[in-house]
Amino acid sequence: MRFFKGLVRIGYICKIIEFTLAGIYIHIPFCRQACHYCDFHFSTNLERMNQMVEMICRELELRVEYQNKLPLETVYFGGGTPSLLDSKMIGQILDRIAKVYNSGWKEVTLEANPDDLNVDKLTSWKNLGIDRLSLGIQSFDDEVLRFYNRAHSASESKSAIDKARKVGFEKFSLDLIYGYPQSDHELWKRDLSQAIEQNPGHISSYALTVEPKTALGNWAKTGNFVPADEDFVVEQFEILQEKTDKAGYIQYEVSNFGKPDQFALHNTNYWKGVPYLGVGPSAHSFDGKNRGSNPANNALYLKSLESDSIPFIVDNLSDDERLNEYILTGLRTLWGIDFNYIRKDFGYDLFKSKKQILSQMESEGWLMWKDNNLSLTSRGKLLADSIAAALFV
Ligand code: SF4
Repeated sequence: MRFFKGLVRIGYICKIIEFTLAGIYIHIPFCRQACHYCDFHFSTNLERMNQMVEMICRELELRVEYQNKLPLETVYFGGGTPSLLDSKMIGQILDRIAKVYNSGWKEVTLEANPDDLNVDKLTSWKNLGIDRLSLGIQSFDDEVLRFYNRAHSASESKSAIDKARKVGFEKFSLDLIYGYPQSDHELWKRDLSQAIEQNPGHISSYALTVEPKTALGNWAKTGNFVPADEDFVVEQFEILQEKTDKAGYIQYEVSNFGKPDQFALHNTNYWKGVPYLGVGPSAHSFDGKNRGSNPANNALYLKSLESDSIPFIVDNLSDDERLNEYILTGLRTLWGIDFNYIRKDFGYDLFKSKKQILSQMESEGWLMWKDNNLSLTSRGKLLADSIAAALFV
């Protein structure tokens, strides 16, 4: 739910020429209740969950050719709320993947909400091969959680982390939201300290955004909610960078921080342009060249799959669009962008075309060069999307 949102917005890159691996993303389009800030695709009507799982399995079979039978490296259950599925359903999907693709994956992540977790459930997930959890914590403050309309309390979050540890999950990520409007940064500092105290291997953190078709969007429109101003949000991002850095996390993507051996493999592959098959309503896919998506409509998705028709719509990218996505996505990561690759594969001399602006940005202290590779400094990461836009073709 959280990670995929970032991907959909950012787009993806096409850098790796000879693909050797691939990923599968499964979108579970159900949530217990609607969080007030969320504009992902989900339904709170849980009645058709069984049917959805069956159709996801059917789509997995029908789209077996999509990745040219590349060996599968990662599986990612996102949504929505995948932790609403019972173990039988998750097992059903993983069995189908193993049968149709292979089971030699290196990482299987499941996004989970704290209120769904108990020791039995966690144990059965572990036995099914899930080895990484992405926990939707968002805040350790009950008032903030209520404002967001999250279905869990702060103590449930802590207890969920304890249970995951007890069951033996070594890899988990905590999701946090910053930018909740306040008169100072105390609440955010407290949230971050509490997250770091839990010693997760990975933290993902996104700013609270006001999306038009959400409760928050409506409140903002009617004057019942005033978002934090930009400077306040930027300061919170700086606090996030500082505190995670001090605690030994590496900011390997603008919104993602991992201990050295705990970077999310699935997410990293997306950012590096590895092909992935997205299954389920609203899921996006990338075959190494083109991308596309399924409709963000549960009824339409189910109806189409029931008649063995794949509802996938291809979105062809022009070379310029692919290059812009490469710049946008690459600059958000630790690995940056490779000017030689751009010259060779896109026939475009980015350095020559943007010489002046590159030198201005360098003198601002936003850029880091390593041979032909450009990445962003900590300060540059604050402006990642604007810097990328200034370099667009
Ligand atoms: S749990 Fe909340 S944030 Fe996550 S997908 Fe559902 S509504 Fe959105």
